[in-house]
Amino acid sequence: MPVKRKSRGRRKGDKGSEGMVQCDNCGAFVPRSKITRVTRRVSLVSGDLARELKKQGVYIAESVVTKNLCVSCAIHYGVLKVRARDERKRSAAF
Ligand SMILES: [Zn+2]
Repeated sequence: MPVKRKSRGRRKGDKGSEGMVQCDNCGAFVPRSKITRVTRRVSLVSGDLARELKKQGVYIAESVVTKNLCVSCAIHYGVLKVRARDERKRSAAF
């Protein structure tokens, strides 16, 4: 069977079945190996105010947020990109 990607879009290999994970954006249930985990630092204080407080030497706590995104949400937010045919076949990312 011809396949679009060498890994068939997953990273489970020949492992067999695996658990499902819910996308944090759209709520779709996706196999664990298809999900993209994105970790971002989120500050509670925004923009100009944060810059001004930092200038005064104030410590601003930042929290780390990890999100599970399905493929379509990851592409929508620019985490993953649509790749050309030959680039897909080389496949390092997935
Ligand atoms: Zn999603």
